[in-house]
Amino acid sequence: MTAPQTRQEKPFSFSYSRIKNFETCPRRYQQIDVLKNFREDESEALTWGNELHAALEARIAKGRELPITMRRYEKHAADLDAQQDAIPGLTIRTELKLSFDRQFQATGYYDNATWFRAKVDVLALAGSKAVAIDWKTGRVLDDHAQLALAAQCVFSNYPEVMQVSSIYMWLGDDARTEDIYTRDGMVKVWNNIWPRITALEEAHAAQVFPPKPSGLCRNYCPVSSCEFHGKGSR
Ligand code: SF4
Repeated sequence: MTAPQTRQEKPFSFSYSRIKNFETCPRRYQQIDVLKNFREDESEALTWGNELHAALEARIAKGRELPITMRRYEKHAADLDAQQDAIPGLTIRTELKLSFDRQFQATGYYDNATWFRAKVDVLALAGSKAVAIDWKTGRVLDDHAQLALAAQCVFSNYPEVMQVSSIYMWLGDDARTEDIYTRDGMVKVWNNIWPRITALEEAHAAQVFPPKPSGLCRNYCPVSSCEFHGKGSR
C-alpha cells in the first residue's frame, strides 16, 4: 500500500487571509496554508506588525506603557480609555478569537463545526452596539470584506448586538476605514462575499489548485516545487 502523498484535509473552514492567499495564487495557498509543505519567511514588516499588536494589547488590556518606539500610537489606547470613562457599561476586550458555523452560529475556535474564524484586535461592547477594531500596519487598501466578516463574527457571538461599527485603523498612515453593519443588513453583505468563498470551497472539493504566476514567483515565493518558482522578471 502506498503512503498518501498529501496531508489529510480537515473539514473545510476559512479565514479572510485564506481567501486572499487563495486569490493571489491557488498553488501557493495549497502548499503553504493547507499542506504546510513550505513556510514563508517572516518579513521585517510582519515582525513589526506582530510586536505592535502585542504592545497595543498589553496597553489596552493591562495598562502597560507602550515602548518608546511605539509611543505615537498611544492616542488610540487613550481614546478607548476615554470612551470607557464616558460610556456607562462599555466593556472592552482585546485579541478575541471568534468563529461561527455554516448556520452562522457561534462555535469554539477550533471546533470541527467551525466554518469561519477571525481574530478581532479590539471589541468594545455597549448594549446593542459594538465597535470592532482591526489594527493595520500595512498600506491603506480599499477592502471591505474583512470588515463585514468581523461584523458577522460579532453578531454570531453576541446575540444582543444589533449594530457593529467595523474599523480598520491604519496605524502607519494615521487613517481609518469604518463600515457600519446592522444585523438585518447582513444578507446583502453575504451576497457580495459568497462567490469568493464558493471559489475557495470548490477548489478544496475538487483538490484543484493551479499555479497563478506573478511577480511573487521570482523572489517572494518559497514553493520550490512549482514550475514557475524562480521565474519571471526582476
Ligand atoms: S512560484 Fe508563482 S505560480 Fe508557483 S506557487 Fe509560487 S506564486 Fe504561485
